[in-house]
Amino acid sequence: MARGRKLYEGKAKILFAGSEPGTIIQYFKDDATAFNNEKKGTITGKGVLNNRISEHLMQLLMEVGIPTHFIKRINMREQLVREVEIIPIEIIVRNVAAGSMAKRLGIPEGTLLPRSIVEYCYKSDELGDPLVAEEHITAFGWASPQDIDDITAMSLRVNDFLSGLFTGIGIKLVDFKLEFGRVYDEHGEMRIVLADEISPDNCRLWDSVTAEKMDKDRFRRDLGSVEEAYQEVARRLGILPEAELKEVDAPAPE
Ligand code: UDP
Repeated sequence: MARGRKLYEGKAKILFAGSEPGTIIQYFKDDATAFNNEKKGTITGKGVLNNRISEHLMQLLMEVGIPTHFIKRINMREQLVREVEIIPIEIIVRNVAAGSMAKRLGIPEGTLLPRSIVEYCYKSDELGDPLVAEEHITAFGWASPQDIDDITAMSLRVNDFLSGLFTGIGIKLVDFKLEFGRVYDEHGEMRIVLADEISPDNCRLWDSVTAEKMDKDRFRRDLGSVEEAYQEVARRLGILPEAELKEVDAPAPE
């Protein structure tokens, strides 16, 4: 499939125009960043694994009725998605205290939360994605109260579905980050769909028995065996045939 012009290069992905109008090609890089770009590195094969893992999870979510931007995977590192207008809010769903929330509220990492907690952060690299309240989101017009209700309901459904899925393969879904976007139909009606990616780059995944980390915290905290952890997630999801392992070093785009 022909790649159009480069639209945007992010930390882990490059977006190109797709051949059909209203489509985008997401190219998954091996680059990894953490702590708001202060730490940079590469995780060999990460792009291939995240492309495949995100495809799998988005497809399963669509099967249970969550609308997403996903159209199809094109090759090892690229997937075709619908072009959306990204809502500048990162939705974080937490089941277990970890990371910034554990630090901010002084809760030991690993504490089971009394119920799932949804947080909103304003998407801004410059500001380090600050935590915001619904008040900020509606006052500054980033999303309407109805949009927030829809996004929150969808995020909790995603959490229920993915928590069950991961529990079934011996993994605890500690927390994750979602992004949503707007699409417009031929009558100009707006619909909100799940966008971006769902992968060990934006989920915390702990082995149910050993609590070993199987996500980007291995990179953030220099725990080693990062690519092995991502591979293990793919293997448990049943989407890692041996053959695919050999091609993880696909060339980067120009
Ligand atoms: N997260 C993310 N992108 C961000 C910030 C967070 O994907 O810019 C994910 C992160 O991987 C984790 C969850 O959101 O699964 C909660 O992250 P947290 O707020 O604890 O921040 P961190 O400790 O990663 O700085």
